[in-house]
Amino acid sequence: MAKKKKEVDDRFKRFGTVSFTGITKVNDFVGYLEQGKLMGTRCKGCGKSFFPPRADCFQCLDSDMEWFEVSGTGKLVTYSQLQYAPVGFEGDLPYCIALLDYGDYKVFGRIAKDIPEDEIKVGMEMRAEVVKLPNGQLSYEFRKA
Ligand SMILES: [Zn+2]
Repeated sequence: MAKKKKEVDDRFKRFGTVSFTGITKVNDFVGYLEQGKLMGTRCKGCGKSFFPPRADCFQCLDSDMEWFEVSGTGKLVTYSQLQYAPVGFEGDLPYCIALLDYGDYKVFGRIAKDIPEDEIKVGMEMRAEVVKLPNGQLSYEFRKA
């Protein structure tokens, strides 16, 4: 009798322009992206919020986490327009990477390409939105609030 092949949860292969990680402890992140939700994790013990989501809290060394949705707006802390990109991202140039401050946590990501650079100002309110990339992969980007 043939041995049953073990099912591998490799949903993370669907994340980002180039996915470097197929299997993580937070694969539900991609399941939520499929539902149009950008999620982080929060430690039930100390309340610390994490984005990108973590399965383990470094503060209290516990793994009792819950998911929360990255909703509302964040303040643009900083951004940079890239003229060179890592392997696999060359076709996306130029693009802006940025950091939004949501108060309890920060979210690193890209600014939507259709926002002219002269309209991007540090301190402006932005929101994160789930997007499907041209190659079918899932990701998220920042848009003006
Ligand atoms: Zn904790």
